Amino acid sequence: MSSVLHVDLDRLARNIAVVRARVTPAALMLVVKDDAYGHGVAQVVRRAVAEGIGWIGAFDVATALEVRRAAGQEARVFVWMIAGEGAIRSALDADLDLGVGDAALLEEVAEVARVRGLRARIHLKIDTGLHRNGIRPEEWTDAVSRVVALAREGVVELTGVWSHIAEASDEEDDLSRAAFEQAVAAVTAAGFDRPIRHLAASAASSARAEFRYDLVRVGAFCYGIRPAGGPADAELGIAPIGSWEAEVLSVDGDRVRIDAGALDGLVSALAGRVDVTTPAGPRRLVAVDGVSAAVSGWNGASVGDVVRIYGADAASPTDLAEAIGTIGEEIALRVSPLVERRYH
Ligand SMILES: *Cc1c(COP(=O)(O)O)cnc(C)c1O
Repeated sequence: MSSVLHVDLDRLARNIAVVRARVTPAALMLVVKDDAYGHGVAQVVRRAVAEGIGWIGAFDVATALEVRRAAGQEARVFVWMIAGEGAIRSALDADLDLGVGDAALLEEVAEVARVRGLRARIHLKIDTGLHRNGIRPEEWTDAVSRVVALAREGVVELTGVWSHIAEASDEEDDLSRAAFEQAVAAVTAAGFDRPIRHLAASAASSARAEFRYDLVRVGAFCYGIRPAGGPADAELGIAPIGSWEAEVLSVDGDRVRIDAGALDGLVSALAGRVDVTTPAGPRRLVAVDGVSAAVSGWNGASVGDVVRIYGADAASPTDLAEAIGTIGEEIALRVSPLVERRYH
């Protein structure tokens, strides 16, 4: 077996239900960037759609097309990293919602739509301080005027206004939100009626009602990855959907070797700092090499025993991350795509 990442799709459904209950009446967009945070886009999307998720967010067009195939035609698929005419063409043909964060891309999208006789649904992004793509506030009025003209021409439709925030401090987020409000006001003043407003990801959508608007874009909490140094899983009502297990390869005195190493994505800095869950309970992870890792032994350890590195009834990805000063995503996203995913 080497090692297996078990993905609990029922748990995904429960996390989604919890997040949804908290953010309602705002709608929930499930974010599936980085292969659904390492869990596998297609399976995650199919289950999410079965649970009634109507919006899915993908970083790049290639992933968004995979989402469209898995989700069917009904779902709204939002993509926000779009580069090149080919990508724009594919995106429009697949009826995606496009996050547009610069004036040049707006013109490119309009041109492709014009040539193909389509109307592009765009969500205009205001840069509210993260400087990670987005139209700067001083350029917003001009961009909105262009959208007015392009909408009149019939090649674009202004579907939404959005931004992304740091979620690192309330003060900074409040400033971002003020900038977002101004951007929305400018769009409304230009005659666009009720654009879909979306600003918050996991943390702000959970903790701060005024950040929810019409739609929230949530990844981490749906996968059961809580923020490092933040509230506990129980408080948030979520639990990890992924459980990473490795078999015992050999028993050597007081050390047991397991079949997962740095090449499988086990972060070597964890050695000596965290416990993994063995049939006899928690034992220290003592060393990580390329293809295997060593764990403190237990009575009766034998080849073929299963050790849980993280997941249900064990440490969570964020628990491990906190031991080395990083975030849970860093642990979960490292698991190699070559490690088998098994869905339950
Ligand atoms: C990653 C991402 C999200 C989701 O963030 P989480 O903290 O995982 O919920 C939302 N929006 C954008 C633009 C993102 O890049």
